[in-house]
Amino acid sequence: VKIGAPREIFAGEARVAMTPDSALQLQKLGYECLIEAGAGKAAGFSDEAYAKAGVTVVEGAEALFAAADVIAKVRPPEASEVDRLSSGKTLISFFYPAQNKELLEQAKDKGANVIAMDMVPRISRAQKMDALSSMANIAGYRAVIEAGNNFGRFFTGQVTAAGKIPPAKVLVIGAGVAGLAAVGTSVSLGAITYAFDVRPEVAEQIESMGAEFVFLDFKEQQQDGAATGGYAAPSSPEFREAQLKKFRELAPEIDIVITTALIPGRDAPKLWLADMVAAMKPGSVIVDLAAERGGNCDLTVADQRVVSENGVIVIGYTDFPSRMATQASTLYSTNIRHMMTDLTPGKDGKLVHNMEDDVIRGATVTFEGAITYPPPPPKVQ
Ligand code: NAD
Repeated sequence: VKIGAPREIFAGEARVAMTPDSALQLQKLGYECLIEAGAGKAAGFSDEAYAKAGVTVVEGAEALFAAADVIAKVRPPEASEVDRLSSGKTLISFFYPAQNKELLEQAKDKGANVIAMDMVPRISRAQKMDALSSMANIAGYRAVIEAGNNFGRFFTGQVTAAGKIPPAKVLVIGAGVAGLAAVGTSVSLGAITYAFDVRPEVAEQIESMGAEFVFLDFKEQQQDGAATGGYAAPSSPEFREAQLKKFRELAPEIDIVITTALIPGRDAPKLWLADMVAAMKPGSVIVDLAAERGGNCDLTVADQRVVSENGVIVIGYTDFPSRMATQASTLYSTNIRHMMTDLTPGKDGKLVHNMEDDVIRGATVTFEGAITYPPPPPKVQ
């Protein structure tokens, strides 16, 4: 069985789903590996490096799709790519089936099996395949680096012969995977770091990282996170008011805001409002990791860097993992390789698409000519 990775065709996408290292691991599972010529270039992996790792370099997407039985991709496929699938072929890629109904239909009609990396259940056993988390980790890190690159001062405080420099103050809103990565990066750069989340259970984790959890003066506890599978649910109006009041107090003294707040299946909640931006010091920076879903900040424009009237820089890039394409490709290709390991119980280069396996079943969105999304609820233990 042959597994191949095409060049990503989404404009500006620099990641690749197979690296020379991941190819070596896939070969140990008994697979023959193919790569489209130039597919790894933007991520720092040359055709020669793939060839040295035993990968066959194929010219052009058409030939790659025709030759490979399993196609590994990063971005959801475009219609032209799904068109190249057929019965007996498996696509493993981000897919976002809820947002891509037409592609789902098309893949079903083609008879291809599709495994959506964004649908991997978030249970301990599947963490090694959790590409949403590996990419969120990079986004959180890169958001802080991007902020630093736009901020005119140091993060850490210093006492120098030329004067005393106060540390920067960073506020991270939303402490999921990306937010925690941002907290860790900000603390390691020496900034005084604050973090807020509607899930109070993350407070301990934030404090153990050397940051300060922002508590609200609000009696009623939020719903138990366990009830929502660890995800946030929309806040009550009263809670939201208390939250906004706190942010208003903080705005004049915070230099950098990293927002990552999301609620599954909804537009990003607006949390850093225009008046808060107006209250910040000129030169302050906001990086909005929720930009793709509408943004947490009123001023965010997706994929843009805008400057407010009072000189606050608002960054809404939606391609942070691609901006660290080497690291992102290394982690993503490892997620894919782990998925392939679970799909290859005999380590004999034979793919066994076991729909009885909860993780494989959960991630499979089309199978043998049928749409298998959404998956059935997990079995009660
Ligand atoms: P996400 O990207 O969906 O959301 C980011 C954060 O925003 C969340 O922490 C959420 O609570 C927070 N948020 C939502 N509304 C907010 C508001 N109004 N104000 C402030 N913060 C707000 O989150 P994620 O990174 O996907 O993580 C979500 C959950 O899933 C976490 O509990 C995480 O630990 C869990 N998780 C588990 C696994 C696993 O394999 N066990 C893997 C990844 C994530």
